Amino acid sequence: MRVAVVGIGAVGSAACRFLAEAGHTVVGFERFTIGHGLGSSHGESRIIRYAYPEAHYTKLMGQAYPLWDALEQAAGEELFVRCGGLTFGPKEHPELASTRRALEVNRVPHQLLRPEEISERFPAIQLFADEIAIWQSDAGFLRAGAIVRAQARLAEKSGAEMRENTVIESLTELSGFDHVIVCAGAWANTLFPESPLPLTVTRQQVTYLSGELVGYPVWIDMATYWYGFPSDGRIPGVKLARHVPAEVFAPDHPDRPTLESDDDAALAYAVTRLPSLGPEIMHHASCLYTNTPDESFVFDHPRPKITRISACSGHGFKFSILMGKLAAEAATK
Ligand SMILES: Cc1cc2nc3c(=O)[nH]c(=O)nc-3n(C[C@H](O)[C@H](O)[C@H](O)COP(=O)(O)OP(=O)(O)OC[C@H]3O[C@@H](n4cnc5c(N)ncnc54)[C@H](O)[C@@H]3O)c2cc1C
Repeated sequence: MRVAVVGIGAVGSAACRFLAEAGHTVVGFERFTIGHGLGSSHGESRIIRYAYPEAHYTKLMGQAYPLWDALEQAAGEELFVRCGGLTFGPKEHPELASTRRALEVNRVPHQLLRPEEISERFPAIQLFADEIAIWQSDAGFLRAGAIVRAQARLAEKSGAEMRENTVIESLTELSGFDHVIVCAGAWANTLFPESPLPLTVTRQQVTYLSGELVGYPVWIDMATYWYGFPSDGRIPGVKLARHVPAEVFAPDHPDRPTLESDDDAALAYAVTRLPSLGPEIMHHASCLYTNTPDESFVFDHPRPKITRISACSGHGFKFSILMGKLAAEAATK
């Protein structure tokens, strides 16, 4: 089959690779260059984890993990750092309780750690006396930008054609293809004026504070939705960000501004939680969240022979390889 893929971010690059490796004729269209920094999939790291308050996401990750392992092997480079992960918060926090249930129901091994155990194992992280942490050893981070580039490279190796700096203005341009997969991220609605989705695009900032955390896990604070990473070995400092939609942002804006107030918020959070970090800002960058009202993903067929897909809402990278595979299957089977 001849399949067009619009948007070569995390999902599109995965879809192109699966299609090309299955022997289909694939053309990928990307409005910028592959690996650009104006969408949602750039940067050094995205958290991967089974620990989710919703058991269906934990279950889906069971299908995504082997795909990441296989990609890393095929690419011949480190794309997944399995450093383990902590999810913590007040003992009675409902999302912490449902995360434990999701892990139990899906039989994912995990451990509960008290504040004194955290200070012993990870002394740079401070838990308060009324808090508890869930430790899960398969968590870690995915090297996001490198993954997009590796998937595109592997797709090309299997015969896919990538057309960079090419904006698809209307899907009628692609009428010669048997199927079109649209994974346009923050631009998802521009190609479907007749069936727009309730999507809100927001600018999200990540901040690297001075300091070093080697041998540390990724972590999520359920009470505040701050989260962070160990030192990633590529950018000096330690990355922190907050999983709360920030200000609404137009994806066609020519750049991705960063705000001093966001850096200040990261520094203020670190004072009590990670006091060895700061006070210098080593690096910061902005990226786009495409949010659905219930933070779930998009996978539909708005027109015949068209699949519209988005691993969005600020938590989709870990699922993007699976969604790319499912889109490739939906297009060809
Ligand atoms: C700050 C931040 C932190 C995050 N942290 C995590 C995390 O820890 N864990 C996690 O799992 N997820 C995380 N996410 C979410 C995850 O990164 C995104 O959901 C995911 O990268 C979305 O990928 P995508 O392929 O749908 O979109 P994108 O990567 O944006 O790809 C869409 C592509 O389509 C192209 N395009 C659009 N329109 C057209 C057109 N008309 N013609 C041609 N090309 C077009 C765009 O240029 C773009 O390259 C985070 C996101 C952000 C912003």
